[in-house]
Amino acid sequence: MNDNYEIIYHEFDVVVVGAGGGGLRATLGMAEKGLSTACITKVFPTRSHTVAAQGGISAALGNMGPDKWEWHMYDTVKGSDWLGDQDAIEYLCREAIPAIIELEHEGVPFSRTEEGKIYQRAFGGMTTEFGEGEQAQRTCAAADRTGHAILHTLYQQSLKHQAEFFIEYFAIDLIMDDDHCRGVVAWNLADGTLHIFQAQTVVLATGGYGRTFFSCTAAHTVTGDGNGMVLRAGLPLQDMEFIQFHPTGIYGVGLLITEGARGEGGYLTNSEGERFMKTYAPSAGDLASRDVVSRAMTMEINAGRGVGELKDHLHLHLEHLDPDLIEARLPGIAESSRIFANVDVTKKPIPVIPTVHYNMGGIPTNYHAEVVTLKDGNPDHVVPGLMAIGECACVSVHGANRLGSNSLLDIIVFGRAAALRCAELITPGAAQPPLPDDAVDKIIARFHRLRFADGTKSTASIRDNMQHTMQDHVAVFRTEETLEKGVAALEEVYESFADVNVSDHSLIWNSDLVETLELENLLGCSLTAIHSAWKRKESRGAHAREDHPERDDKNWMKHSVAWVDEQGQTRVDYRPVHSWTLTDDIDYIKPKKRVY
Ligand SMILES: Cc1cc2nc3c(=O)[nH]c(=O)nc-3n(C[C@H](O)[C@H](O)[C@H](O)COP(=O)(O)OP(=O)(O)OC[C@H]3O[C@@H](n4cnc5c(N)ncnc54)[C@H](O)[C@@H]3O)c2cc1C
Repeated sequence: MNDNYEIIYHEFDVVVVGAGGGGLRATLGMAEKGLSTACITKVFPTRSHTVAAQGGISAALGNMGPDKWEWHMYDTVKGSDWLGDQDAIEYLCREAIPAIIELEHEGVPFSRTEEGKIYQRAFGGMTTEFGEGEQAQRTCAAADRTGHAILHTLYQQSLKHQAEFFIEYFAIDLIMDDDHCRGVVAWNLADGTLHIFQAQTVVLATGGYGRTFFSCTAAHTVTGDGNGMVLRAGLPLQDMEFIQFHPTGIYGVGLLITEGARGEGGYLTNSEGERFMKTYAPSAGDLASRDVVSRAMTMEINAGRGVGELKDHLHLHLEHLDPDLIEARLPGIAESSRIFANVDVTKKPIPVIPTVHYNMGGIPTNYHAEVVTLKDGNPDHVVPGLMAIGECACVSVHGANRLGSNSLLDIIVFGRAAALRCAELITPGAAQPPLPDDAVDKIIARFHRLRFADGTKSTASIRDNMQHTMQDHVAVFRTEETLEKGVAALEEVYESFADVNVSDHSLIWNSDLVETLELENLLGCSLTAIHSAWKRKESRGAHAREDHPERDDKNWMKHSVAWVDEQGQTRVDYRPVHSWTLTDDIDYIKPKKRVY
């Protein structure tokens, strides 16, 4: 089989898969530490989804008023609905401050205050005084193009430090030797060659799995590839049922209007012109946590108070804001609204609807970014040679619900943590054991099988079935009935993949094959998400069960971990939530009812 392919061998200290903000921050950190580092990416680095991040990145810098990382930690734990691991959250919020200052020094062009400090805006769920004080202004922004600014800076810095980029290479699978990860196999889309990258450590930074749904704010390339690779390596995914719906996707288009729009003073209304958020979240109002706002919007629409002909969406108002402020702080939003909704935001409200936006779940790791699994009764067993960071990972700092602007922070802090850990564990240039003779046989056989798949169903039709099944059954509100039906429907979709047809057999720029490989990864993400959602009989964060409306800490304060075997059978087990902190500086934040 392998003779059919030209296979090229590389050896590095570290291979990073993905060149979004997470992958680039790790790549830069590794290269700075003198580790030979390859970064493999299926799209050009600055086209990664991070480029679309608008609103900003949180850190308790206190540039616009009093702030402390301890308050940021409290908000993040509360936002997570107590499913987040508090050791990791402490690390996130404390390290946020040096991590952002480093970004500033590397050259990220942040917006500035009058005194020349980094500008910080208000974001949902961010408060002061452990939730008792005013709204915090904690989200550092470069206008409404923060991700773009970060990504370009990190790419240039990585090049400066001589990291080696393999651009438009599609990573297919991890090379596992028992439970040790030794590298990754990738396909060069431009010339059809296959590549073995052997490394002391592989870092997965492949982003989320937004495209499991029909309507989402994520790019078409956000297909859970790292998650699929992990499942095929026999490892689990964690908390996959926690899928964030952003309150303000542009109606009918899915494109995002940043929460920063409400942070700058925007507000929502229903068909009666009423600012309904005051009813659902008396103190935080329009800036309550995302899950809370998305549920409130869904309830308004269900109660017949939606706007438009079908009464199926709501209005977001910016027209009362000073046009100069919009021009300075929200220029991208004004542009997207004009192009995609034909709305001049200085004159008319934007039609919006809750839209799939972010995946809290992913590859389980500890706060050093090392991948962990349940093994021999140990819930924190480290998988040697494998790390995961960013949206593909589940550290877990977001728990059941992520606060806006904590995700850009997650990718920067844990990209940096991965590099710090590798610098501790890895000797640059150390000899690596030879790979077993059959190390890549199974990987190449699968690739070959899919390349020549001669079934009757197109990749697009199977993907469409999967996306609609997820959209209809794993929505903002869930019930036993919708989930049970969804599981049956999705298993049928999964089985239909055995009958997929790939009509183009070429090895060069074959988008049919790329999309088929991506679809298999998405199917693994969908299966683990729907099974974990079905099993979890409580409501917590983004997982809202109409039939189990309360949070149930006694039975459910635990992470779901799910495996999919080669036959497509899904198994769900549980890991305890880390209920300790890293230092004596702060105590464990005890669970209480989450109100805004
Ligand atoms: C529209 C939008 C706006 C957002 N705004 C904000 C915000 O303001 N603040 C905030 O905190 N968060 C925001 N988020 C969330 C945040 O931007 C993302 O969670 C984060 O950028 C993800 O970064 P990442 O590095 O994990 O992955 P990505 O940026 O998605 O990058 C993934 C990388 O992996 C590579 N890759 C994937 N599969 C393969 C493969 N098989 N082979 C090779 N390479 C592969 C891709 O080429 C890419 O380089 C937003 C998200 C969206 C969608």
